[in-house]
Amino acid sequence: MRVFNFSAGPSTLPLEVLKRIQAEFLDVDGSGMNPLEMSHRGKPYEKIHSQAQALLRELMGIPDDYYVLFLQGGATLQFEAIPLNLLGVNNKADYVNSGHWAKRSYDEAKKYGDVVEIASTEADKWTSIPDFADKIRPDAKYVHITTNGTIAGNCYNTFPECRVPIVADMSSEILSRKVDVSKFALIYAGAQKNMSGAGLTVVIVKKEWVDNNYVLPICPTIMKWKTHADKDSLFNTPPTFTIYVLLRVLEWIKEQGGIEAIEKINREKARRLYDYIDSSKMYRNNVKKQDRSIMNVIFRTCHEELDAEFVKEASAANIIAVKGHKSVGGLRASIYNAMTLESVDYLIEFMKKFEQEHGSKCACCNK
Ligand SMILES: *Cc1c(COP(=O)(O)O)cnc(C)c1O
Repeated sequence: MRVFNFSAGPSTLPLEVLKRIQAEFLDVDGSGMNPLEMSHRGKPYEKIHSQAQALLRELMGIPDDYYVLFLQGGATLQFEAIPLNLLGVNNKADYVNSGHWAKRSYDEAKKYGDVVEIASTEADKWTSIPDFADKIRPDAKYVHITTNGTIAGNCYNTFPECRVPIVADMSSEILSRKVDVSKFALIYAGAQKNMSGAGLTVVIVKKEWVDNNYVLPICPTIMKWKTHADKDSLFNTPPTFTIYVLLRVLEWIKEQGGIEAIEKINREKARRLYDYIDSSKMYRNNVKKQDRSIMNVIFRTCHEELDAEFVKEASAANIIAVKGHKSVGGLRASIYNAMTLESVDYLIEFMKKFEQEHGSKCACCNK
């Protein structure tokens, strides 16, 4: 039996996609093979590779002057690849601290140059997105932001005009809403949250940023974007299966009506969940309303033991992975593209039932 999987990543995939993969597992597209078995230099795989790139370009509206790279090492590898590829000429970069991953990216980048944290909401436990546009140094090479906070449950709902190019970690929200790619010099995302499985990292980067060679001399060959751009992401063996799954997920998004249609459903899912949390006496979410994520919805009761009981009873109701990240505790429901509206309703029904059963025991639950 399938579970209601609210994991932050790797996370649930569309059932239609899983069924299609199952049906064609032994023979994908007349090749007589599974992508796990395909040479990355052969025709059947090359077709998957180029179709996935083309469909990603189409759905996201990626302009021609951007490369779409299929890399490995996760978003975490890009935390270092970004400064290594960009700080060779001008070694100044500015970082915005809006959460755990934003901070991690800054911690890596600061080893490589004059890298400054220009704004932070860490003191407020990242319950809002910092204002940063005025704080950017005019001579910084780029400003780095994490557009959706997977752990803090926050999100940039608008992007300010910036005087330097924006580099954005979109790992936990890519493909969830319409984004104007041309506003960013670079967008990157690990695939295991909203695109495919683990093992693939997508980097969408302005060609001039790769071709102009801003690379630091110490940058390893395998981490240079130019290495991969010159070989169309076939410099070494790519994660063939994960890229094939990406292609099927992108086809599924197109069938749903594209990113705009998906965004509408995503907003409705988030609205229902937040509306319930805000109206309940037992659950709370302290993120400023205009900065709330529509992908990762965090909430908690006022007792750790009650949160633990929630996780336990949820599991008996077939709802899994609702425990908050270990650094913050509490509860979290990740509702990426593949999570259906019906599944979100099922979670809300469970939350209501839990509140009815436990709310009266909870003296401080009269918020
Ligand atoms: C999950 C996540 C990461 C880490 O991704 P890996 O692929 O495990 O390296 C980085 N940034 C954000 C915003 C994330 O959600």
